[in-house]
Amino acid sequence: MPKDLDDVLTRIDTDLPQALDRLSDLLRIPSISTDPAFKPDCARAADWLVADLKSLGFNAAARPTPGHPMVVAHGGEGGPHLLFYGHYDVQPVDPLSLWHRDPFDPVIEDTPKGRVIRARGSSDDKGQLMTFLEACRAWKAVHGRLPCKLTIFLEGEEESGSPSLIPFMTANKAELTTDLALICDTGLYDNSVPAISTPLRGLAKSEFTIHAASRDLHSGAYGGLARNPLHVMAQLLADLHDANGRVMVPGFYDDVDELPDTLRQQWQGLAFDHGSYLGDVGLSVPAGEADRTPLEMLWSRPTAEVNGMWGGYNGQGFKTVLPAEAHAKVSFRLVSRQDPAKVLTAFRAWAEARIPADCRIEWHDGINGSPASIMSITNPAFEKARLALSEEWGRPAVFVGEGGSIPIAGYFKSVLGMDAMLVGFAKEDDQIHSPNEKYDVESFHKGIRSWARILGRLA
Ligand SMILES: [Zn+2]
Repeated sequence: MPKDLDDVLTRIDTDLPQALDRLSDLLRIPSISTDPAFKPDCARAADWLVADLKSLGFNAAARPTPGHPMVVAHGGEGGPHLLFYGHYDVQPVDPLSLWHRDPFDPVIEDTPKGRVIRARGSSDDKGQLMTFLEACRAWKAVHGRLPCKLTIFLEGEEESGSPSLIPFMTANKAELTTDLALICDTGLYDNSVPAISTPLRGLAKSEFTIHAASRDLHSGAYGGLARNPLHVMAQLLADLHDANGRVMVPGFYDDVDELPDTLRQQWQGLAFDHGSYLGDVGLSVPAGEADRTPLEMLWSRPTAEVNGMWGGYNGQGFKTVLPAEAHAKVSFRLVSRQDPAKVLTAFRAWAEARIPADCRIEWHDGINGSPASIMSITNPAFEKARLALSEEWGRPAVFVGEGGSIPIAGYFKSVLGMDAMLVGFAKEDDQIHSPNEKYDVESFHKGIRSWARILGRLA
């Protein structure tokens, strides 16, 4: 390890109590973005961050939006130019009665699993965003400057749907476009393995009606002779997959890349326990593609799912009806280079071709959707970050898929045309969005050290 990085890490260790004090100051500001009553507090949190960034030598400002301000700061020199994203707003705290103490009076607690800092926003996302700022602070203290050219971009509306985000990114495109975005709003894998979250699946949706007779019919008068659209729908949806779980729409897999061997090996090493994952929801046997591992199915394979199907008589008792129409909602999780429009067009053509005489399909929605956000993990920055994380945590860091979607990563790609690297230190038991939210002091401490190492390797 180079001597200068060693000095930065030592500085982080000795400065930890002060770093926790600074985080506590930020946590005391109840910046609940969804509730207008807390609008002044959101502004106060933004101003607090601007002042902190200025103290690190950044040129920082709280920039107005129709909602809560964006914090944008620029500093440092030399390549690469990195952008860091986090959010300073938090979720509401109710039910307040389930909190063991005031959600905005942070405290360090000793628990059987180690020391934690408990407060709303400690994990999501104030504690996480401060790991990056503290890494910058230590770097500046040791070297007298920031490690490279940095843009800090902190949002105050993430927990309320980010209404100003895309307009702000679009209006400030040149200012916010950098070589790579770093996002700290995700977690460790299995609470201990450092992780870079990469493939986030896209989504395409289709709702449609199959029409048959011009009106509902009596099954005594027409049964057996007239086409039943519920039967047609059931057959169509059953044909969507073959016996091995593969989607039968022609061309569906054309733009699906095979998992690179390096990733396959990493994921095998994760020893994902699908038994307990499924067991949590009362299931036991993986469905889906028979020749794929459970993690592959979750993180790297596309799906077709029936989300709803209805028609005919659903009330109390019985009505011997032959319905005139049948309805369904079908959605597709997309991966790799799959294009939502291409998938939906192929699905429509496949379905239309299977509809018998006297039936027709009415499509209710447009051809749209969101593609998967592909991170170019071939970009050397990803491997450098992986090595830096592995060094800090003493275990090989992994590129993992992400169950929940993280729209911001997609926006960096679609609006600004840049890749985003998602690195975070939250744990599954952090109780984000719930009462008694906490962040492990270890997550905070090692998170700061992780960013220092990543910046050391990238700069
Ligand atoms: Zn968050």
